[in-house]
Amino acid sequence: MKRVLITGAAGFLGSHLCDRFIAEGYHVIGMDNLITGNMDNIEHLFKLKQFEFYHHDVSTFVHVAGDLDYILHFASPASPIDYLRIPIQTLKVGSLGTHNLLGLAKAKNARILVASTSEVYGDPLVHPQPEEYWGNVNPIGPRGVYDEAKRFQEAITMAYHTYHGLETRIVRIFNTYGPRMRVDDGRVLPAFFSQAIQGKELTIFGDGSQTRSFCYVDDLVEGIYRLLLSDCSMPVNVGNPDEITIGEFAEEVIKMVGNGTVSYHPLPENDPKRRRPDITKAKEILDWEPKIGREEGVRRTYEYFKTVVPTV
Ligand code: UDP
Repeated sequence: MKRVLITGAAGFLGSHLCDRFIAEGYHVIGMDNLITGNMDNIEHLFKLKQFEFYHHDVSTFVHVAGDLDYILHFASPASPIDYLRIPIQTLKVGSLGTHNLLGLAKAKNARILVASTSEVYGDPLVHPQPEEYWGNVNPIGPRGVYDEAKRFQEAITMAYHTYHGLETRIVRIFNTYGPRMRVDDGRVLPAFFSQAIQGKELTIFGDGSQTRSFCYVDDLVEGIYRLLLSDCSMPVNVGNPDEITIGEFAEEVIKMVGNGTVSYHPLPENDPKRRRPDITKAKEILDWEPKIGREEGVRRTYEYFKTVVPTV
């Protein structure tokens, strides 16, 4: 049985990856320090012999007993309000945490895949964003702690690949949504759904003309799984290119929930104006593209939020 270590296992993406690797017949070792993770996301796995869990912060030395075939580094605060609240931990998990896991991968002769992000492109001047684009990031702005940690993560991962010959994979993840997103993580989908369900105004930041391109979590997990098993050590964008303005998205949520009004609030500093992945490379190399449209994916996510958003 192949053995995989997944960091950030109790988080949104990490927990879905645990499910996928369990389903594929792997032995899964989940690791999380639970600053932003939630044990409810993996509670169903504890009864399985194939699953074990380490409560540990990967920014400090990481020890795992036994062999490892793969490491997936998904530990990190990932929403703007989280990395503004815990900026130092965000920097540490992307930098020191990645370094520790690269060291572990080297010691275990394991292949490592690190979770990078569309944030490496910052507020992009090229649209849509291909992997060749170097980005437009403000290193000392409020989002810099996340963006630069992830940029450093890519740099050190490539250095381990070229200098030590380590088998590395880098996925650049664009906005992803689905069940198990934290209701209060501040991101637009949980924010709009909890507001609509509770009959509150949907808080649009800015004039709502900024765009995002939302990918359903199952599609993302499939792309990551394919990338891990591919032979591509260069970064690959994985996301859904179906772009929408935040204002239009608010209207879609209101229509789905059946009620709601909007209110306008100041746009956070350095909030990217447009974001859409160029997924040419993922299509060519991984034979991957998203299958679940926004209508279907958002409906499934709404069903989840209905079970977890407290009614007021
Ligand atoms: N946003 C919004 N209202 C909210 C939360 C977010 O209008 O209550 C906007 C935010 O300013 C950004 C977009 O929605 O332009 C996506 O924000 P999110 O925090 O989900 O992720 P980002 O892509 O900015 O990392």
